[in-house]
Amino acid sequence: NTELLLEEQKKYGTFVASISVLDKNFSVVGSSEKYTTSETSQLKNADTKFHAGTFIMGDVYERQTDDGLKRVVPAYIGVYEKSELIGYISEELDTTYFDELRLNMDSLSSGTFYLLDGNNSIITAGKTTQKNSLTEFVTKSADRSDFQKKWNAIDKEANPRGEIYYKYNGEQYITYYSNVENSNWTVRVTENLTAQKKDMMPYQLLWVILFVFFAVGTVIVQILTTRKFLQPIESAMDVFAKIKETQDYSLRIPVKSKDEMGQLSQSINELLAYTEKEKMYEKMEQDKLKQQAESDPLTGVKNKKAIEQYVEETVAYSDENKTPVAIGFLDIDDFRNFNTNYGHQVGDDVICYVAKTLQENISGEVGRIGGDEFVIYMRNTESKEIASARINKLIENVRNLPFKEMNGKYVTISVGIAFAPEAGSCYMDLYKNADTALYEAKHNGRDRYHVYTQVCNQIKNSI
Ligand code: GH3
Ligand code: MG
Repeated sequence: NTELLLEEQKKYGTFVASISVLDKNFSVVGSSEKYTTSETSQLKNADTKFHAGTFIMGDVYERQTDDGLKRVVPAYIGVYEKSELIGYISEELDTTYFDELRLNMDSLSSGTFYLLDGNNSIITAGKTTQKNSLTEFVTKSADRSDFQKKWNAIDKEANPRGEIYYKYNGEQYITYYSNVENSNWTVRVTENLTAQKKDMMPYQLLWVILFVFFAVGTVIVQILTTRKFLQPIESAMDVFAKIKETQDYSLRIPVKSKDEMGQLSQSINELLAYTEKEKMYEKMEQDKLKQQAESDPLTGVKNKKAIEQYVEETVAYSDENKTPVAIGFLDIDDFRNFNTNYGHQVGDDVICYVAKTLQENISGEVGRIGGDEFVIYMRNTESKEIASARINKLIENVRNLPFKEMNGKYVTISVGIAFAPEAGSCYMDLYKNADTALYEAKHNGRDRYHVYTQVCNQIKNSI
């Protein structure tokens, strides 16, 4: 019956090589396999083995079983009757059981695991990922001399667990060790520090790359963000600086986005458009006032002060550039009589018509300097002949106006011409000399022009 029971138990114990029942002298009473007492003789010094109360474990040994040659570890559990030990249940644990323990040491990422019994016989060893356990050290005993020296030097009683650093084949190793409680078994884990460092290198490099990437990324993001916010402000400042320099309010800030900055730029542009319009109105108002201040209220041509100033400035400029210019001083003939006969109102119409005719025929400026007197400034006269011909045409056009005097004679004008720079290079000289020439024209019968010469000045002085 016992044998049958043990047979059944064997079926279910995955790592159990065999189960036996022993009396208290370790003699086999029954077994799942055919045991002899001699095969358990190694338990004679069982008290030096793994011993926790009546739980005893021995060292590894090889035994021929029904399944072939096996490396097994014996375990004994005390059996009691009324607190008296009467025998043992013995199991032989297949060393693959310990392999399973090794494989489950998840915390070990690398390194070699060793479990040694009290005889320093390796029960299981290998990397935690290796399915096939080792039964020998990975390195030769001679290679382990550095390790062995340090290992032997350890006082295991005083230091049941610890670590040893040693060198093998030029590489740095560390072995962590610990005894198994209540036994003289040892667990050792050996790590190749040099290889570990090398393994870590790609990770370290990865971290460095990640860090650099992150740092560069941060800087780029910062630059882009700064750009995004600063660029619109910078271009706005550029536009403001240009406006300050040129007073050109038609300039606008480029609107490159629809976000808050874009909206702000848009608002500034609207403000600029408003200012531009305001400035335009202001300028129009100023131009109007200036024109009013400079123009003759009756005819709209320049008034005396304005034409004087204009000629003064322009003559100086044309003198510098040697551009031939001329001053014409003209006066309506016998206008006093016309006024007397037709009244001031009609006289004003004549004055206006004459002013208009002057503007239409003269390439330059026209100014009314008194009652029936005008000054004309002729720019780019090319030659005296051409200028004189133009004046002649002007006189003819005035004569063709629809105004006749009582005697049927049309209203005419007389003109005195002074060419710059011979007749002067300032307004007063030119005016004075044009006046002299006008006197000459009047004196010679009116409705004509006369060009100032030195001679006519002498004539005037002699009269
Ligand atoms: P002359 O050919 O020598 O120039 O003879 P004149 O009669 O035109 O004489 P003068 O040029 O000295 O006379 C200018 C006249 O112009 C005097 C005045 O009756 C007239 N007059 C002056 N101012 C105005 C004005 O604003 N309107 C009108 N209708 N007549 C004016
Ligand atoms: Mg006159």
